[in-house]
Amino acid sequence: GCDLIEVRDASVDFVMRGGFFAAKETLSAVDTVNLTLNRDETVAIVGESGSGKSTLGRLIIGDQKPTGGSIKIKGQEVRNLSRLVRSRLAQPVVQDPSSAMDPRWTIESLLEEPFRIHRELDSRDGAAIRDILSAVRLSETVLTRRPHELSGGQLQRVAIARALLLEPEILVCDEAVSALDASVQAEIVGLLKSIQKERHTAILFITHDLHLVPRIADRIAVMYLGQIVEIGSTQSVGGELSHPYTRALFGASPKIGRRQGKRATLQGEPPSPTNRLGGCPFHPRCSQAWNVCNSVIPALTATSDDQAVACHLVTAQNRAKLEMAAEAA
Ligand code: SF4
Ligand code: MG
Repeated sequence: GCDLIEVRDASVDFVMRGGFFAAKETLSAVDTVNLTLNRDETVAIVGESGSGKSTLGRLIIGDQKPTGGSIKIKGQEVRNLSRLVRSRLAQPVVQDPSSAMDPRWTIESLLEEPFRIHRELDSRDGAAIRDILSAVRLSETVLTRRPHELSGGQLQRVAIARALLLEPEILVCDEAVSALDASVQAEIVGLLKSIQKERHTAILFITHDLHLVPRIADRIAVMYLGQIVEIGSTQSVGGELSHPYTRALFGASPKIGRRQGKRATLQGEPPSPTNRLGGCPFHPRCSQAWNVCNSVIPALTATSDDQAVACHLVTAQNRAKLEMAAEAA
């Protein structure tokens, strides 16, 4: 295909040992996920903690090998690429940027590091670093500082600068703004959008915090227990024909005022991924579960050109809607 990133039936199973006498259990952190991402596109991956969002991000970075399926960037299978090649394709931006920065180093040395990993420093690198600083709207005065002398927002800008120096095709932002104050979050989101416009970088925006999602994402993928249960344009996901889990998730996020559909509440903890029940993985928590839900697994089914949902109820509602439209015509 011509997609920049192509995730096909990707799975990550971890074999877990219980106690000494306990049988081994398999945990499907990512379960047969399909996803494409294009240049200039931001896809948000949303879901509660433990839904497999971060593992999916690590598959794309190449820090996690799939146990099944394929992850390609520009047609190249990520698992077959060296670390150095991968670092030019996909770069992570994490929640706590200082965790990847030696506190004794100056910001200048930290920004030289991506180059130094690949080769000897070059006389042009200084200019590249100054360019990247202006792209992330930081003054050159930060170069002589050390990480602890910067604010959380400044440090996240340094981390984004570092991620951009090797001109990757995609930034995988995993809770990249979750630790910041609301005003700084908005600034960083604005910065990511302007960087995308200038550099055509694809962005995977992984978050449990939904209020920024409509502002940054072109498409949204909702994960539950390792599976994508809904995917579509930011306009359609959470709308009329939406997965009960998505609606509960958006209903629980008070800042998304425009989603005025029926409010569902999200109750209970996500069930253990090692202890899978039959049928729809969401059925123990679903307020709309009916008789088929605990026995038949719902497949991800298109409801329109730009939305697909894995829910028996939504599939039935969509079929009814289409039949009514056909009768009216
Ligand atoms: Fe709820 Fe059934 Fe839909 Fe699952 S398939 S989300 S249990 S209505
Ligand atoms: Mg996570």
